[in-house]
Amino acid sequence: MKYLKSKTHHYQITIDGPAGSGKSTIAKLLTRELGFLYIDSGAMYRAVTLYLTEKNLLNKSEKIIKSHLKKIKINFRKNKNGHIVILNNKDISKKIRSQIVNKSVSEVSAKKNIRQEMVKRQKKLAKDQFVVMDGRDIGTTVLPNAELKIYLTASPYIRAVRRKKDLTKLSEKISATELIKQIQKRDNIDSSRTISPLSKAHDAIVIDSTNLTISEVLKQISLLLPVK
Ligand code: C5P
Repeated sequence: MKYLKSKTHHYQITIDGPAGSGKSTIAKLLTRELGFLYIDSGAMYRAVTLYLTEKNLLNKSEKIIKSHLKKIKINFRKNKNGHIVILNNKDISKKIRSQIVNKSVSEVSAKKNIRQEMVKRQKKLAKDQFVVMDGRDIGTTVLPNAELKIYLTASPYIRAVRRKKDLTKLSEKISATELIKQIQKRDNIDSSRTISPLSKAHDAIVIDSTNLTISEVLKQISLLLPVK
């Protein structure tokens, strides 16, 4: 599908949706297929959360937190293990998926200064690039002019099952019931915050992945791409 790569026009795809809806799996496969850049905006909020947790800054004022933002350098790399997230020169790809980060990431990402800074960085990373970016507010706020916007959903139960698999890989134990509770709490905070909440852009196409396989979701998306 390399024909999507015009020299003059940068095709951009956004995938938004709640936790565990399959955004990152789909986004990674899509970027591989299209040869686009993948930007995982959630990983950036997770990296900030990890930094604040490790420095014991989670409960500090917005002013103190703001003064730390410039010290938080987040980079993405790709190697044989896949997509790597780097925080101040350290590979934090695994750590940011842990329960300790899951628990506070939504509170952290609702903070005004943090959102403003991350949105600014995300816009800069995507500038003049063929990208697939996934998150909560990408179609509405970060890349409102993207050519293709997907809003991916799934039932809370299926989303909890998917997240449980991810956590098992990290050797973290948690019950499905507890995960559903956590996911619903995150959904509530993400959808009700005042600044760029989780919401479907008016021009986004909804795909409910509850009963779909990964390849079925990809197929639906590929039908939405320009033919030539
Ligand atoms: O996508 P992921 O589950 O890794 O995102 C972690 C958290 O980061 C979300 O629950 C949400 O609180 C926050 N987030 C956000 N805006 C984005 C992406 C993620 O607020 N664009």
